[in-house]
Amino acid sequence: MGTSRTVRTIRTSRTRLAAGVALGVVAALGATAPTSTAAPAGPAGPAAARPGPPPVGHELPKVAVMTGSDGAVASVDPVASQVGIDVLEAGGNATDAAIATAAALGVTEPYSTGIGGGGFFVHRDGATGEVSTIDGRETAPATYTSTTFVDPATGTPYPFATVVDSGLSVGVPGTPATWERAAQRWGTQGLGELLKPAERIALRGFVVDQTFHDQTAANAARFAKFPETVRVFLPGGAPPAVGSVFRNPDMAGAYRELRTRGVDSLYGGRLGEAVVAEVRDPSTAPGVTVPRGQMTAEDLAAYRALDKDPVHSQYRGKDVYGMPVPSSGGIAVGEILNLIEAYDERTGTPTSEVDEVQYLHRFSEASATAFADRNRYVGDVPGVPTGELLSQAYADERACLFSATAALPRPVPFGSPDGDYAECAEGTASGTLAHDDVSTTHLSVVDRWGNAVAYTSTIEATGGSGITVPGWGFILNNELTDFSFAPASATVPDPNLPGPGKRPRSSMSPTLVVDDGTLELVAGSPGGATIITTVAQIVLGHYERGLSVGDAVAAPRLSSRNGATEQAEPAIADGPTGAALTALGHRLARTAEIGAATAIRVLGPNRYTAAAEPTTRRGGGSAMVVTPDP
Ligand code: GLU
Repeated sequence: MGTSRTVRTIRTSRTRLAAGVALGVVAALGATAPTSTAAPAGPAGPAAARPGPPPVGHELPKVAVMTGSDGAVASVDPVASQVGIDVLEAGGNATDAAIATAAALGVTEPYSTGIGGGGFFVHRDGATGEVSTIDGRETAPATYTSTTFVDPATGTPYPFATVVDSGLSVGVPGTPATWERAAQRWGTQGLGELLKPAERIALRGFVVDQTFHDQTAANAARFAKFPETVRVFLPGGAPPAVGSVFRNPDMAGAYRELRTRGVDSLYGGRLGEAVVAEVRDPSTAPGVTVPRGQMTAEDLAAYRALDKDPVHSQYRGKDVYGMPVPSSGGIAVGEILNLIEAYDERTGTPTSEVDEVQYLHRFSEASATAFADRNRYVGDVPGVPTGELLSQAYADERACLFSATAALPRPVPFGSPDGDYAECAEGTASGTLAHDDVSTTHLSVVDRWGNAVAYTSTIEATGGSGITVPGWGFILNNELTDFSFAPASATVPDPNLPGPGKRPRSSMSPTLVVDDGTLELVAGSPGGATIITTVAQIVLGHYERGLSVGDAVAAPRLSSRNGATEQAEPAIADGPTGAALTALGHRLARTAEIGAATAIRVLGPNRYTAAAEPTTRRGGGSAMVVTPDP
């Protein structure tokens, strides 16, 4: 990392180039490209034949950890993080930076987030300490019922694969409404201004990295069902080459539309008309049919991003804030932390002092237990017992069956959060398991005034529904696949069945930790249901294992979600730790990587360490501060 002096020097050029290879691209490119295009990079390539403007890059280096002052941004992508840093540097606050960064991620991470998706925005006011949230989750159309995903011909749920690439999976997008609401409540610059950098990136392009290439390639067969998606994201019929410049002028047009006509263009204008038409009758390749959706203009007009109080729990005397229902993230992360504390108390052996195997064993038991409760009780329904699920007395009851010498049999039964807790009570067996994906993206921002944002946004699967809105360059979500297609058990109620206007249960866990009124940690991750375990593991890694925030993000991950097996990254699965966990009864499923987290640790007044993934996960993330330490 350069000194702040060096950074300033680089910035005075204001050329906003990507480091290294992008310089070659700039030399090779000329005028504006007319359509989506991925131009090969380098003077020797045929780039001159595919002219275009210079791509947008980043001035600060792409690193996983950066410490300094005047504000911090951590996201998965350096071009997007730089946008947030620029906003902070220009006097914007954390909300301004978060919106601008999220919009930029919609361009550079279009398979994870964007205009066509939803998310959860957690905000802390630096002056008052008040934590608030915006629920920008997608909604089901008004016509959906508990049996929408059941095939009437057979009475059984449609195969997941049938629904995933279809109009039926698309929920009413919540992201533009979230940006607008956040800008209104806390922003200083107006949404139109904050969308400009994203529009510029879409127009001028960015340099394709390995992750973008690989995600496109992995989705190529799915995308092939939808010619518009192929046109935009596989120009020339192939995934854009690493090092080439990817432009999406259609998406630039969508940002321009939102910027100049407001989000009403989506919720009551021509952008919305295009979305509804495509959802109800997806444009497919010859010979391909996919289920049609049911979204209407009325569904779009009825959409609201909702102001909600955060979920609050206590851990080690600190205040932990997260997302309430319809996310299960805040509840499940809080319950895991409470269970760890309960077990510490019961055994008299703090988790901070046990060895790595016992630590992961405790974490696994707590995670499986919290998932049992989450699956049983949490959904977008009235009466979710959030307070009881997060009470320490409930955790004390639930942790009483944990043992140091053997893993509980899976599935761990769910408990009874009824306010009447015994020393030790058996639960009730059930088992529901969500599918898992590795899409979505999380960004963390803190500004110099102590305002903070943890914002996780998504289009659900990597590549969402695979459906690109014709002429507008963005992919629609498949968030409604987060509903249960049918109850897992005939006797146990399922709070996550579809319904009219209902929001599917999420695992997204944008999280803040505050100690005695002082913000300490901002964190979150993608990864479907593994989000919960990743975020809890970062918190525990930092506070129980004494890891720096960078090391807590980088630490090998384990994810038990109450299934028969639990995912373990190779550093755990392949070594003695994995063998010891197996001996305790954990059935590990080796998984190359889990999550793609970002976090910020506030070190003191106007001093921060921003953290993102090392290159071993998703090619690495991008942690930046406005003024890096020398
Ligand atoms: N749709 C998922 C959720 O809301 C997130 C998807 C992912 O992270 O891959 O929980």
